[in-house]
Amino acid sequence: MMEVFLSMAWTLASVLFISSLRGLSHQETARRGNSYGVVGMCVAVAAVILGEKVDRAHLPVLLPAMGVGAALGMVMAKRVAMTAMPELVAVLHSFVGLAAVLVGWAAWLDAAHEGTPSALLLGEIAVDVFIGAITFTGSVVAFLKLRGTLSGRPLLLPARHLLNVAVALASLSLAALFVKGDAVDPNLALGVMTLLAGALGVHLVAAIGGADMPVVVSMLNSYSGWTASAAGFMLENDLLIITGALVGSSGAILSVIMCRAMNRSIWSVIFGGFGAEPAPSSGPARAPEGEVVATDLDALAGELRDAREVVIVPGYGMAVSRAQHAVKQLVEILRAKGASARFAIHPVAGRLPGHMNVLLAEASVPYDIVLEMDEINGDFARTDVVLVIGANDIVNPSAQTDPASPIAGMPVLEVWKAKRVVVLKRSRASGYAGVDNPLFYHPSTRMLFADARDGMEKLVAKLQG
Ligand code: NDP
Repeated sequence: MMEVFLSMAWTLASVLFISSLRGLSHQETARRGNSYGVVGMCVAVAAVILGEKVDRAHLPVLLPAMGVGAALGMVMAKRVAMTAMPELVAVLHSFVGLAAVLVGWAAWLDAAHEGTPSALLLGEIAVDVFIGAITFTGSVVAFLKLRGTLSGRPLLLPARHLLNVAVALASLSLAALFVKGDAVDPNLALGVMTLLAGALGVHLVAAIGGADMPVVVSMLNSYSGWTASAAGFMLENDLLIITGALVGSSGAILSVIMCRAMNRSIWSVIFGGFGAEPAPSSGPARAPEGEVVATDLDALAGELRDAREVVIVPGYGMAVSRAQHAVKQLVEILRAKGASARFAIHPVAGRLPGHMNVLLAEASVPYDIVLEMDEINGDFARTDVVLVIGANDIVNPSAQTDPASPIAGMPVLEVWKAKRVVVLKRSRASGYAGVDNPLFYHPSTRMLFADARDGMEKLVAKLQG
């Protein structure tokens, strides 16, 4: 009876998780997708608690612990600013990694206590602990880099690929000894392997430069899925295997899509910045030449009144100042006077995949005027005014012109081809990748130095007045 109940619960939860992923793939259905995920998780947790593997005597400890965890999760999710979302995601991935390591160790200690564990179980434990430790420490480093506590610059140790291979081989050898039961002290073999995998996680992520961090976050998401799947095999839990595989493969697909969008090799990200060095002949990155010309709100309002084709490029600064509602008002004003006003969205704008889409959806901007980079890049040459709001790296022409630039090869929005580009930001400071931006010195660029929200609200007031 219990078995039938459990398989029904696993099937229902699996269907809900798959529906959730399907819903999350479109903005219109994302909310529903999220709800499916929540219900699926509730079904899964309830089935585990009611299942035969949980000793009823442990419930007085388990339930309050779950209550505390759920309350903490709700407070964190409610409080987190949209701009800090990738940090939260990185922390959550680190929890998955740490949980996998702890569960792996618990399974090993349990099995060793009960008798001679099978090689299959030991293999599952070794895989679970290995990927879990890499995910844990890699996510902690990603969190610190996203937070700015650690520098975004890649840590390029000499012979680092050799070092990675040596550590991976040493871990593999220890895992083999552990699985075959040849280790003099299996605890020591598993312990050293855990530490080596943890060190590998630190080194792999530390070697990746700032501009590639979005892919790292989605790669770690994928790792956290695979580690959960490995834990599923170990614990003989079908739902964990399925859920882990869903998270692992969707994270891997997202990573590949993001790598394509940024013209990076997925292998370079997996193997810790392989090929991150600039070409030896390219020399140091070039400093921008020319003059920065500032503008003011009156001049911008005048240009917008005359414009027929306007494109808005939002970036991290729009998110951090929460300027999206004023931006939406601006678009309404422009469209009311018969101009075309559209948005150009770079795949890594802001600090998390889809960041700008979420903010614009929150401000009820119609989806049909929100265009992806590939859809709009060809239109800049016939655009009268491009308004860049708090964006920097994603509109940096040096990605195309300077092979020594850390963002060389990353596709960018070619805004400089428009008749006029106005960049709204507070200063000439660089963006996330820490690179100078020659766009600010381009003859058709004007800089409007202001906070994005304040500047947009004043601009809207001027155009309305
Ligand atoms: P950038 O980080 O390149 O630039 C943002 C700019 O916003 C800054 O130069 C800053 O200039 C300006 N800014 C900050 N606050 C304000 C404000 N209140 N008002 C106006 N301007 C403000 O952002 P982009 O969106 O152009 O590019 C995203 C970068 O983040 C890429 O390098 C990407 O690789 C990286 N990244 C992306 C992730 C993703 O998944 N999307 C995840 C992690 C990293 P100033 O201080 O002068 O105002």
